[in-house]
Amino acid sequence: MKNVAVIGSGTMGNGIAHVFAQHDHSVMLVDLNKEALDKALATIEKNLDRQVKKELISEEKKSATLKNIQISQDLKSAVSDVDLVVEAASENVDIKLQIFKDLDQYAPKDAILASNTSSISITKIASVTNRPEQVIGMHFMNPVPVMKLIEVIRGYSTSDQVCDEIMKLSEGLSKIPVEVNDYPGFVANRILMPMINEAIITLFEGVAGVEEIDTVMKLGMAHPMGPLQLADFIGLDVCLSILNVLHDGLGNPKYAPCPLLVNMVQAGYKGAKTGVGFYDYRENPKAPTVARQFSK
Ligand code: NAD
Repeated sequence: MKNVAVIGSGTMGNGIAHVFAQHDHSVMLVDLNKEALDKALATIEKNLDRQVKKELISEEKKSATLKNIQISQDLKSAVSDVDLVVEAASENVDIKLQIFKDLDQYAPKDAILASNTSSISITKIASVTNRPEQVIGMHFMNPVPVMKLIEVIRGYSTSDQVCDEIMKLSEGLSKIPVEVNDYPGFVANRILMPMINEAIITLFEGVAGVEEIDTVMKLGMAHPMGPLQLADFIGLDVCLSILNVLHDGLGNPKYAPCPLLVNMVQAGYKGAKTGVGFYDYRENPKAPTVARQFSK
C-alpha cells in the first residue's frame, strides 16, 4: 500500500499524513480549503523539526518525509491511483457519506477506504459504497505522530483480508493496532466518554470542584490529565456529540449527557479551542485557571 490519500487536513489529517510519509508512503493530502492545506504543511514541518531536535529522526529523514507529501483540492484526481484512502474530514455524517460515495466512484476498485471517525458507524459509511468489505475504521489518536494506538474498526461487512492488511500496515507505521467491532463509540470512546460525563455530573451535583475532581483522577488513578481538562482539550461539543451517539445507539439512559455539558456547549463554552471550558485558557494556555463560573 504505497500510495495513500488522506482526506481532510485538520488536526488529525496532518498528523496522519505525517506518519504515513515518514514511513515511506507517498501521500496525497486533500482538503476543500487551501488555507487548511497550507497550515497542515506548516504544522507537519514544525512537528518534524521537533523530532529532529529530539534526535528521533535525521535532517535527511525530515526532507524525505516532506517530499513524500503532495497537497490537492481535487478529490477525483487525488485518489485516482491510490491503494488506500484514510478519511479524516469533519465529524459530520452527511459530509462523510458524500465523501465515501465519491471515493467509491473515483478510487481504484481494489483500494481500501478507511475512516478516522471517532463515533460514526463504519457499517453505515460502508453502506453507501459498492465495496463494503473494503471499508474499515482506522481511529488514530491525537497527537498522531506521538500516540501509539490505532483502533482498527471492523464494519459489519469488512473482510478478514482487509482487516489483516490494515493491522499489518498499522504495525508498519510503528503503531500498535487493536481490532474492535463496530458498535457505538467503538472501545475508546465508549469507555472514555462515560468517565468524562460522570466527572461533569460530579461537578454538577456539587460533590467537588473542578481542580479537586481532576486532582483525584490524576494522582489517584495515575491519569496524565484530569477528565475535565481532557474534555476541554477534546472539545466539549465533540464530547456532547459522542455521548449523543452512545445514548441514541445503545438506548441506555446511563449515557445521557449531563445537562451542564449541554448548557456549556449551547453557551459557546466549548473548551480550550474557544478559550474557556472548565478552565480558562485565554491568559495563559499552558497554565489555565479554573473558569470563572466554577471558581469558589
Ligand atoms: P478538523 O476540523 O481539525 O479538520 C477537518 C478538516 O476536514 C478541515 O480542514 C475541513 O476543511 C476538512 N473537510 C471538511 N469537509 C471536507 C471534504 N468534503 N473534503 C475534504 N476535506 C474536508 O477535524 P479533526 O479534529 O482533524 O477531525 C477529523 C476526524 O478525525 C473526525 O472524524 C474526528 O471525529 C476524528 N478524530 C478526531 C480526534 C481529535 O482529537 N481531534 C481524535 C480522533 C479522531
